[in-house]
Amino acid sequence: MNCLMLTAVEQKLRGGFKGIIKIDEPLSAHTSIKIGGPAKFFFIPADGGELRFLLRFLKDESIPACILGNGSNLLVTDERLSVAVIQLNSEYFKNIEYDDALVFAGSGVLLANFVSFAAANGLSGCEFLAGIPGTIGGALVTNAGARDINQQGDDMYRNIGDVVKKVRIMDNEANISCLKREDLEFGYRSSSLKNAIILGAWFDLIPAKKDDIRKSIDNFLSKKRSTQELLMPNAGCVFKNPAGSLLSAGALIERCALKGHIVGDAQVSPRHANFIVNRGNARFEHVKTLMNFIQKKVENDFSVRLEPEVEIWEKNE
Ligand SMILES: Cc1cc2nc3c(=O)[nH]c(=O)nc-3n(C[C@H](O)[C@H](O)[C@H](O)COP(=O)(O)OP(=O)(O)OC[C@H]3O[C@@H](n4cnc5c(N)ncnc54)[C@H](O)[C@@H]3O)c2cc1C
Repeated sequence: MNCLMLTAVEQKLRGGFKGIIKIDEPLSAHTSIKIGGPAKFFFIPADGGELRFLLRFLKDESIPACILGNGSNLLVTDERLSVAVIQLNSEYFKNIEYDDALVFAGSGVLLANFVSFAAANGLSGCEFLAGIPGTIGGALVTNAGARDINQQGDDMYRNIGDVVKKVRIMDNEANISCLKREDLEFGYRSSSLKNAIILGAWFDLIPAKKDDIRKSIDNFLSKKRSTQELLMPNAGCVFKNPAGSLLSAGALIERCALKGHIVGDAQVSPRHANFIVNRGNARFEHVKTLMNFIQKKVENDFSVRLEPEVEIWEKNE
């Protein structure tokens, strides 16, 4: 059955698509929390031309598409998703180059590689992205970032939206355009790029001493190592820090005595209360039930409604 479907899709795409096509690809293999059922179609286009060709094909066939980055901010249903998942991680989308302090990075570049590239070229401004396991595309959509201390010693957030200069996108009609920083809006773990397909972006970085850059990267990495859950599969912070609350989401969950709480094989991390870990065989429903339980308990004890930071893929067409 799967072979027949694969052949039919390959035949229709023939001549225009040399990238990877898979049928019923398990998304658990592509999410950091290691949960997710099969995607009916899974594509890795070899380059921008193939992506355009693919989008037109999917539109003609009325197949909805979702873009996958490194899967580090996703909770995906265990059921079969009747969509085409497109991952932009072929070499073409991992291109990274530097000209006159502007760095261009393709959407599939891992943040770790972006940060290392900038450091190796003596460019500062993106060190706060060290240790975030996403891609440039995913980070721009979620406006990924970290807490930092500014020169006055104040606590502040640094987000990727602060350093991006221009973003190259493809729309659902497969048209390419460039959006300047002033055309974009970034919020707390959100951006106006949510419905675009990001091909790559240019970043404004500042020349600095390589040693200073490396020290700053090490600081961010050691902060993460000492606070975050790095051993068991997880999807990063599950809830956003609530606006107007003096306590972070993690602090609220911890004060509800939920650290270590278990549903099935999903557990509130004993290390960081805003992380849910997969102890081995956690299912989508385990995590969802645990999230609902946390939301109810925090609302009951503190009258604060926690909003998910992880993106949930569960709608099946
Ligand atoms: C251990 C751990 C620590 C983390 N720490 C942090 C942290 O400190 N700060 C932080 O902000 N986040 C953190 N995260 C969350 C996560 O890494 C970030 O949100 C990251 O930016 C997601 O990138 P991704 O490539 O994995 O995107 P995915 O999770 O694959 O996707 C996220 C969203 O981006 C979209 N997307 C991805 N690529 C593209 C593209 N090319 N075009 C259009 N849309 C696209 C997807 O459709 C989806 O809507 C952490 C996660 C883990 C597991």
